[in-house]
Amino acid sequence: PGIFDALAQQPADPLLSVIGAFRSDPRPEKIDLGVGVFRTESGDTPVFRAMKAAERRLLETQATKAYLGPEGDIGFFEALRPVLFGAADPRERVFGLQTPGGTGALRLAAELVALARPGARVFVGTPTWPNHPPILKKTGLEQVSYRHFDPETQAVCFDEVLAALETAGAGDVALLQVCCHNPTGADFARDQWKEIARILGRRGVLPLLDLAYQGLGEGLDADAAGVRIVLEQVPAALIAYSCDKNFGLYRERTGALFGVAANGEGARVAHSNVLAIARAAWSMPPDHGAAAARVILEDPALAADWRAELASMRDRIVSMRELLGTIDPAFAPLTRQHGMFSTLPLSPEQVLRLREEFAVYMPNSGRINVAGLTRANVEPFVRAVKSVM
Ligand code: PMP
Repeated sequence: PGIFDALAQQPADPLLSVIGAFRSDPRPEKIDLGVGVFRTESGDTPVFRAMKAAERRLLETQATKAYLGPEGDIGFFEALRPVLFGAADPRERVFGLQTPGGTGALRLAAELVALARPGARVFVGTPTWPNHPPILKKTGLEQVSYRHFDPETQAVCFDEVLAALETAGAGDVALLQVCCHNPTGADFARDQWKEIARILGRRGVLPLLDLAYQGLGEGLDADAAGVRIVLEQVPAALIAYSCDKNFGLYRERTGALFGVAANGEGARVAHSNVLAIARAAWSMPPDHGAAAARVILEDPALAADWRAELASMRDRIVSMRELLGTIDPAFAPLTRQHGMFSTLPLSPEQVLRLREEFAVYMPNSGRINVAGLTRANVEPFVRAVKSVM
């Protein structure tokens, strides 16, 4: 028998088949709401202007590609700190490093928890980003799920969130998406964050905050409010940060893990542990995206241009949501959601009908990428959805 014969076939990523089916569809009116990348009105996912400029600068000035070490580009990490924490930076209590995307940061955070508290349970609201459960599973941590979102009301099930967190014990973990919830767009309001923060603080629960879309919801500071509010109530936290959407870096795999410990000594010990885990996992993160993001953040003119372009992307997403609500009141709840994603209350059969009869593409879950809508296709999209509902 072959050495790999004991392996079971694994399911393909469901989004890949949507992408493939969309590509081979000859109908010119086809609409792709599947892939999770930002799109302009003309359907492109461009490189940011400031990123192009930063990359040119790197090309001209970078004198070596010698190893940096498991922390990656520390200048990048430091430049990102004020964007994340604002005036609430916990200073010497902060530790962390550059990671291969938000995914690398999440995996590292989970590995750190598994090392520090092998019996910890991780509380995860459903639905969530489909990669959350497998990342946590790899580290052996037990997962407890509860309902985050009700597709019928299109809103957060806040009572259920609170009830679940009230059952978490000291040392358990709450994995919470900070803004632009994937796949529902249903975020916590500031007052809700305050209630969550009080429970986490009172019960000694460690927040693992996933921030993958800062700036694409309501603005850079507003989108980080959850982090800042939670940090007022808890002694320690982990924040998995992705620059792949808000710097348009995607395939460059750019992110960071930020940790906050109870004190400076705790931060130093935790830091040595994340470095050791990173060294054994990927040794060091890919450089290019983080180096270019650092160039942007360290240059006031490039940083201002980055913020402006990010704001225009956010405006486009908001205006598509508003257009949906204007065209049909049934879509009004989507105007109260944030970021690129919403999940429509559609069955897999309805999703299939949308694909076959109307050339509207989305995964079976009913998740749509609002950035795939345009002024031209939003009306036919609404009509198609109404006719299968
Ligand atoms: N968290 C969430 C909620 C996400 O949606 C994503 C990416 N789609 C990530 C983390 C990971 O991002 P990255 O591509 O930087 O690994």
